[in-house]
Amino acid sequence: MIVILQPHVNRSSEEFDRLMEYIANKPGLSVRVHEEHGSLQVLTELYLIGDTASLSEEEIATLPGVERVVRISQEYRILGRHKDEHRPTGFEYNGVHFGQDNLNIFAGLCAVNTPEDVETMMQALQTNGQVCTRMGAYKPRTSPYAFQGHGKNCLPYVFELAGKYGIKVIAMEITHESHLAEINEALHQSGNPTGVMLQIGTRNTQNFELLKAVGRQHHHPVLLKRGFGITLEESLNAAEYLASEGNSKVVFGLRGMKTNMADPHRNFVDFAHVPVVKRLTRMPVCIDPSHSVGNRDVAPDGLLDVMHVTAQGVIAGANMILVDFHPHPARALVDGPQALTLPELPFFIEDVTIAREAYEKRIARSRIFQRLH
Ligand code: PEP
Ligand code: MN
Repeated sequence: MIVILQPHVNRSSEEFDRLMEYIANKPGLSVRVHEEHGSLQVLTELYLIGDTASLSEEEIATLPGVERVVRISQEYRILGRHKDEHRPTGFEYNGVHFGQDNLNIFAGLCAVNTPEDVETMMQALQTNGQVCTRMGAYKPRTSPYAFQGHGKNCLPYVFELAGKYGIKVIAMEITHESHLAEINEALHQSGNPTGVMLQIGTRNTQNFELLKAVGRQHHHPVLLKRGFGITLEESLNAAEYLASEGNSKVVFGLRGMKTNMADPHRNFVDFAHVPVVKRLTRMPVCIDPSHSVGNRDVAPDGLLDVMHVTAQGVIAGANMILVDFHPHPARALVDGPQALTLPELPFFIEDVTIAREAYEKRIARSRIFQRLH
C-alpha cells in the first residue's frame, strides 16, 4: 500500500510523526519512506510492506496529512502503474523533460575516440537542434583484448565540449560503482557544464550491487537496458531495484534480444514491448535501434533497417531513442559498422518526426473512438 502525503507534509512535519506512530501500532507492518521529486515539489510517500490486507484504506485516507492511498495489487511497487492512481510518468533533469508523453533523441558516439570526433558530433547535434547525446567512456566488451573505452581520461573534454555546444544530457554507461565517482568528480572539475544520464547496459541489468549503488544516488537519472537473455519481468524488477533505493528517475531501454533467430540482425528487435512497458510501469521507454539491428543494411525501399526499426518503435510510442552516429564510422573504435553518418542526421530526425506525428494522430483517433464506445 502506498500512502501519498499532502504536498506540505514531509519527514519533519508533525503529521508525519503521528502517521509513523499509527503505523508502528499495527502488527506485521514495516514502512519505507520515499520522496518523489517533481519539477515543482517533492511528494513524500510511505510504502507499507507486510500484512496490509487488514488495513482500512478509508481510515488511512482520513488521517491528517494524507492526500491519497493506493492499494498495490501488482509488482513494481514504485515504478509500476497501479489501479486508480495518477502519479506522474516522468521527471525533469537539467531542463529536459523525460516522460511517457514525449520523445528525446540521443544520437552520438558508441565510444568516445578523439576530442575532434566528439566536437564534430556535438557541433552537428547543435546544428540540428539537439540537446542530448550518447557518449561511451566505459565500454563492456566481449573480449578482454578489445578497446575498453577511454574511461575517466576522456571525461574532461567530453563535458567541456558538451557545455560549448549546449548539450544538456549525455547518456553514459557505467559498469562499476567507481565510475560514478569519476563522473561526478569530472563534472565538478569542469563546473557542471552538462548533465549525465547513467546507463546500465544489458550485461549488467541484474548486477544488483551496481543497481543498488546507482539507486542510492538521487541526482542522475538512469537508463536501464533490458537484459538481452532474461524475461521482461526480470528486467522490470531490476528497474525496481533502482527505485527501491530511492531513485525513481528511471528510463527503461529496449535494445533487442540475443538469439540467432534475429539473423541477419544483431539482436531480435523487441519494440513491440514499448506499449507493454508503458502499461505495466510509469517509466519512459527508450529504444536502441543500433544495438538491435547492428548493421547498416538498406531495404529495397532505400531506408536503412536502423531507420525502419526506429520508426516502428516511435510509432508505438517510444519516449527516447539511443542511436549510434559517427563522423567517420571507419575509424570508430567500437560498433562502427552500425553507426549512422552525420549527413544522415537531419534525415534521421525528419524520419523520426514523421513517425512521431503518425503516433500522435493514432492516439488522437483512439481517444475519439473511446468516447464513441
Ligand atoms: C551501448 O549502448 O553502447 C551498449 C553496450 O548497449 P547494450 O548494453 O544494449 O549492449
Ligand atoms: Mn555499442
